[in-house]
Amino acid sequence: MSTRDTAAKNWDDREIGVRPEIPRNRLPNQKKQIPKARPRAEIEPPLKLEIVQAGNSVLRQLARPLSLAEIAGKEIQNLIEAMRACMREAPGVGLAAPQVGLPLQLAVIEDREEYLKDAATEYLRERERRPVPFHAIINPALTEMDDDKVEFFEGCLSLTGFSALVPRARRVRVECLDEQGRKKTIEASGWYARILQHEIDHLHGGLYIDRMHTRTFTSAGNWTEFWKSKPISEIRKTLDIGSV
Ligand SMILES: [Zn+2]
Repeated sequence: MSTRDTAAKNWDDREIGVRPEIPRNRLPNQKKQIPKARPRAEIEPPLKLEIVQAGNSVLRQLARPLSLAEIAGKEIQNLIEAMRACMREAPGVGLAAPQVGLPLQLAVIEDREEYLKDAATEYLRERERRPVPFHAIINPALTEMDDDKVEFFEGCLSLTGFSALVPRARRVRVECLDEQGRKKTIEASGWYARILQHEIDHLHGGLYIDRMHTRTFTSAGNWTEFWKSKPISEIRKTLDIGSV
């Protein structure tokens, strides 16, 4: 998920399981599919990743789970580091493996203090947005913790230059593995819960445009010009959006 609602930037938007058929791994800069017994030397860093944009079919695939052996292996460990660098460079607060061309059940998340430091207190308060340290989630299963939905504009690094109002659960629980393959339960609320939902949607072939109020879809420039300073209730009224 993009940082842009996110804060320090001027406009709102950038980035924020089932057993699938197992797609064969393919690293982004490789034209050929990687055989399973790929020599480690071939996958050593620096691994430079590129973020794919909407329309690329990898964003619509169900990603496959990773095994504990894969998580412990150098290939996935290098990938996690490369995804961290890619997310920071974007910048974004979340990045899912399908966004770098790999249909794997892996995402990285980090909401840095520096993204929040220039944001108004009220802006952060209503989004319940707080810094989140870097971490990876692997093979996650998400449960919505209550029926409360909250609506904010969000964006995606794979839909560059756009944003929309997206209803999301305010609180979620995520069962997953961490970057060391350990079982982990995350209970999150507010903006962190939104990031988790956004990234886990990516692992199931979903994009925020599947959940958005379609009439609110906007370019970045028009978001700043027309919508940024308005309360959500006023935007809903102006655009004649029905009840959630
Ligand atoms: Zn996204």
